[in-house]
Amino acid sequence: MAKQIWISDIQDGNYDDSEVEIKGWIHRFRGSKKIWFMVIRDSTGTIQCVIKKEIVGEDVFNLLRNSLTESSLVIKGIVIQTDREHGRELQVTSGKIIGSVNPEKPYPITESAMEEAEGGETEFLLDKRHLYLRTSRMTKMLKIRSSVFSAIHSFFRDLDFIEYQAPNFVAGAVEGGSTLFEVPYFGRKAYLTQSWQLYAEAAMPALERLYTIAPSFRAEKSRTRRHLTEFWHAEMEVAWASNEEIMNYGEKLVRHISSSLIDERSAELEAVGRDLDKVSKFADMTFPRMKYDEAIEILQSKGVDVEWGQDLDYSKEKILTQDFEVPNFLTHYPKIAKPFYHRADPDDDKYVLCHDLLAPEGYGEIIGGGERTWTEKEILERIDEEGTPRDAYEFYIDIRRYGGVPHGGFGLGVDRVCAWLSGADHIREVIPFPRDSRRVTP
Ligand code: ATP
Ligand code: MG
Repeated sequence: MAKQIWISDIQDGNYDDSEVEIKGWIHRFRGSKKIWFMVIRDSTGTIQCVIKKEIVGEDVFNLLRNSLTESSLVIKGIVIQTDREHGRELQVTSGKIIGSVNPEKPYPITESAMEEAEGGETEFLLDKRHLYLRTSRMTKMLKIRSSVFSAIHSFFRDLDFIEYQAPNFVAGAVEGGSTLFEVPYFGRKAYLTQSWQLYAEAAMPALERLYTIAPSFRAEKSRTRRHLTEFWHAEMEVAWASNEEIMNYGEKLVRHISSSLIDERSAELEAVGRDLDKVSKFADMTFPRMKYDEAIEILQSKGVDVEWGQDLDYSKEKILTQDFEVPNFLTHYPKIAKPFYHRADPDDDKYVLCHDLLAPEGYGEIIGGGERTWTEKEILERIDEEGTPRDAYEFYIDIRRYGGVPHGGFGLGVDRVCAWLSGADHIREVIPFPRDSRRVTP
């Protein structure tokens, strides 16, 4: 197969004055009866194509001139350097349409359609999500997202972590029953997994260092800018590790993701409006650590109505993180605010050895993690204390009966990290087909 020539390579000056063939889609057009200008897009960029009737002949000229936005084509031309803002141009010599667009059903995403949409622009674009993906902003978000995934894989693999998969149909909750999705399962009930963690702990004595990136499902009823019902969860579990050590992994991972984005996706970040200096700071600076009690004092001093023992929801995290420059760890939450698998602090068992990493600028929690309750005696006490039925967790308790060891891990919300690092207003901007309580289509 002939090597495909990318528009970005042409714009980088690798083909000046040569004749090239490019493949792409018509982005916009204008012109007259003798000269036609088309901006062509491929996955790497755009180029203006100048089509003159006297060069391409009447038939090709008319064919291209009558083709609508988003028609796909193969086009040949000479690369011309210009001093205009849009960069190089293609002086077209020939072209053919591959996939045409029916004039009775033109490409629906237009300025006027967005303005006139009955349910508003946001809902309109969500309805047309399958087409919206090819817009310039979404393309950039998807590239940033891909680099975030690749940075997470490289981080863990470089540290010799093993990638490990857990089932998505499960019998019990990790994060509380209120966000469980129930599915009929051959006359029984099963649930979609909220986290990989419990099954990862089963493999901890086998692998010692393990990670995954997988979907997690949570029936989040309220729609917020940082909750999806199906999100991508990067989770890790390590044997013999303390809360402190697990936090160090989390900090290094987030800094590694930030620096990988600076290396690979600076252009995309700037194009979506992100200040690169801020992302560089996330890559370079260390992340401060603060205890839950201190956070409550700060919030109370700011006049926030919050009581000791409450988990911090988005509204409180937003106020707390508004003035942060970099992510901050919050540690030592009260035991009553956290599920049974969090290990009680041996120095003061009102607290658990856990951490949340809160991103700055109001984004809030991107990581939740900590040490696990690891002895059989303690796990039984914690489960009973919480009033959780033991049945669904029999396997989880059993793991602790055969050589339990201190261990722990964390879960990082990949979509949340993408939203924060790209500066998106809403988590749905960074995932191709966002799922929330109101939408499972398209
Ligand atoms: P929150 O309080 O914001 O709902 P959580 O405490 O339920 O978060 P964890 O159970 O600790 O979150 O999950 C680990 C990480 O997974 C979170 O820090 C977050 O980054 C991500 N996460 C959790 N729920 C969602 C969701 N519904 N949509 C997107 N990401 C999520
Ligand atoms: Mg939650």
